[in-house]
Amino acid sequence: MVGLFARANYTSTSMPPISRPRGTEDLLPDRLAAMTGAVAAGMRIASSFGYREIATPIFESTELFVRGVGDTTDVVRREMYTFPDRSGRSLTLRPENTAPVLRAFGESSLRELSPPVRLSYAGPMFRYDRPGRGRYRQFHQFGVEAIGDGEAELDAEVIAVAWDWLADLGLGGISLQLNSIGDAQCRPAFRQALLDHFAPHLAQLPELDRERLARNPLRILDSKDRATEELMATVPRTRDFLCTDCGDAFERVQLALRAYRIPFQLNDRLVRGLDYYVRTTFEVWHEDLQGAQNALFGGGRYDGLSELLGYPAAPGVGFAAGLERVVMLAPPPAPLAAPQVVVCSAQASVVSLAIDLAQRLRRDGLTIVCDVGRRSLKSKMRAAERTGAGVVGILGEDEAKSERVTLRLLSTGEQVAVRLEEASAQVRDWAEASARGSLS
Ligand code: AMP
Repeated sequence: MVGLFARANYTSTSMPPISRPRGTEDLLPDRLAAMTGAVAAGMRIASSFGYREIATPIFESTELFVRGVGDTTDVVRREMYTFPDRSGRSLTLRPENTAPVLRAFGESSLRELSPPVRLSYAGPMFRYDRPGRGRYRQFHQFGVEAIGDGEAELDAEVIAVAWDWLADLGLGGISLQLNSIGDAQCRPAFRQALLDHFAPHLAQLPELDRERLARNPLRILDSKDRATEELMATVPRTRDFLCTDCGDAFERVQLALRAYRIPFQLNDRLVRGLDYYVRTTFEVWHEDLQGAQNALFGGGRYDGLSELLGYPAAPGVGFAAGLERVVMLAPPPAPLAAPQVVVCSAQASVVSLAIDLAQRLRRDGLTIVCDVGRRSLKSKMRAAERTGAGVVGILGEDEAKSERVTLRLLSTGEQVAVRLEEASAQVRDWAEASARGSLS
């Protein structure tokens, strides 16, 4: 083999260890359980609002993001994992999931359903970003999209899904930041006002902000640069430029948010990084997240996106939350459950019987770890205690003859020999007694 698969001539002792790629994370069981638990809670809440889960491919044609997210955005210009496949098509690991979900909506029977079509998703996203606290190159998002309907109350609804989810996870210290960036009708005047505001001060601006002004002036409101900040005090506000339709829609969003009893702060500088947004934009910030990484999640309305992708008009609104950040800040869930029973074989001759018993107990709904290796029973017992198991089941030749198993309740040392078919009932009796606090 040559090229990619060629093996260097290492001896087994000199092989350098291979580590995970920079900016990625191995989700070890505790963290993965926290993440899947958070997703399950999100899906449950979204489903109580009528959202149904969808999964789209992890890679898409590059054009989807160039057109959908916009080629002036940081995400498309600098952060995409783009590669040609073997037939030369340009593919990209998805950096976000709104454009893919809209594409799936546009090319499937979903678009024949009565709008709005409410969809939820969770999965990995990829951005070539500088890794840091709460910032990865492969990260995970949970999000929802409500597609096919431009009613402003839907904007508040997707925020309510997110808000209820965070409450369910017990996450405090959050604030909802809300803005409207207008639409194709009123935004040009605002854009011009921004250009006029900064025009006399171009020399003071850093290179990146001058570039932003030239390409996509709204993005300068995102700037964290000190020189630019100083010019922000008197910067025009989008709110003052909204046309009647956008102004009315913004009022309706706020009214609905009050009905959901969700507090919010109007934030004139919230423009968000992706080009497809119109009207409502929002982020949820957490007090412990700093600087550019303070958003737990963000979203907004994207009424023209479907047409950009080449499909019929389908207005929509949604949010995406970073699961790494949510899990980092939410109170930790209960630790991993210990096995209820460790089944140990005392001799090699009873291994089959021990495996058979373990399977029988699992079918009865218990969590069983099976220890049928060659080690001594004593070391198996010590290992069983370390797992935090409640009960150890010991099978030796004596037990095999009488078709019994010795069960030992580790918390009290109590020990009984029961018939194999009675083992799960005995474990459950102990578990119930322990829950009642009536074990001696
Ligand atoms: P965005 O699509 O940029 O609005 O991101 C939505 C949410 O995804 C953010 O608020 C973050 O919580 C999360 N997020 C975005 N980029 C990253 C990243 N590189 N690493 C971890 N989380 C991220």
